[in-house]
Amino acid sequence: METNQTRLKEVLAVVNNKGGVGKTTTVQSLAVAITRQNKNARVLVIDLDPQGDLTKLVRGSRMTLAGSVTEAMASDNGRLTVYKSQRGIYYVPSSPELQKIEPKLMEQMQPYMVLRRLLLSDFTDHTPEGIKTFEKDGIKPVLSTIPELFDYVLIDCPPALSMCTYNAMAVASGLLIPVQMEGLSVSGLAPVIVEMERVKRELNPQLELRGLVPVMVDMRPNIVRSFVAYLEQAYGDNVTTTIIPRSVKVNEAQTKKQDIYEYKQWSPVAIAYEQLAKELFG
Ligand code: ADP
Ligand code: MG
Repeated sequence: METNQTRLKEVLAVVNNKGGVGKTTTVQSLAVAITRQNKNARVLVIDLDPQGDLTKLVRGSRMTLAGSVTEAMASDNGRLTVYKSQRGIYYVPSSPELQKIEPKLMEQMQPYMVLRRLLLSDFTDHTPEGIKTFEKDGIKPVLSTIPELFDYVLIDCPPALSMCTYNAMAVASGLLIPVQMEGLSVSGLAPVIVEMERVKRELNPQLELRGLVPVMVDMRPNIVRSFVAYLEQAYGDNVTTTIIPRSVKVNEAQTKKQDIYEYKQWSPVAIAYEQLAKELFG
């Protein structure tokens, strides 16, 4: 994204038109992994799924929040509200009403560019420390937009090629697609890639495929190894070197409302997501 003083390096949309493939887990784990590698990095996660799984995992409580992404996207003068979790992750929560956002998007001038507009404009700072900096008179913000204040933005998308997903693709610099190593998941990738190419052509020339990430992989069976090989043959360098193993630790951590690093920082999944952060962001 183009602004003068920007610390923003990457806006990653985590996309797959199917549910239960590890999108939310990838956003949550990658966000924490980035901050473990660089204590000064500010990572903002945006929950674009009306189910609100990411919101629940990140905020760690049932408390409902006033400013969700739904209100922000619903009107052409909306703005995002940024919260901060106890683990130091900044987030924009979702709400169930996001399910009914499409007519509200259609009323706006550029229905697919709504999230892009929001990310480039001023936001409501709901963090405890207050991350906007102010001039001495205390009125005019010096740094006030997301590209000026955050290093990474990770967007968790709903399990469909819906208008929310297109909005994410229209603002993203990169797309990350978690793939389970089974026949239908691998063959189901084609439409996602076709739509990515379309968004790149029509809306966002900067959009790149940053990686197909094999997730929930049980490396033992031969069939899985042959899927990884097939994926690499079909998509070459786009398949990440990092493979996220399958582990019950993920579910155990999420049940306790913890991220994988809080729960078992030396587990293979925790290590793999750190490796993925290194592979993607150096
Ligand atoms: P999505 O957001 O694509 O619907 P989730 O991240 O919510 O997918 O993951 C779906 C389910 O799979 C969740 O119950 C989650 O705990 C589990 N899961 C995610 N990653 C792993 C993994 N690496 N190993 C085992 N289970 C996983
Ligand atoms: Mg999800």
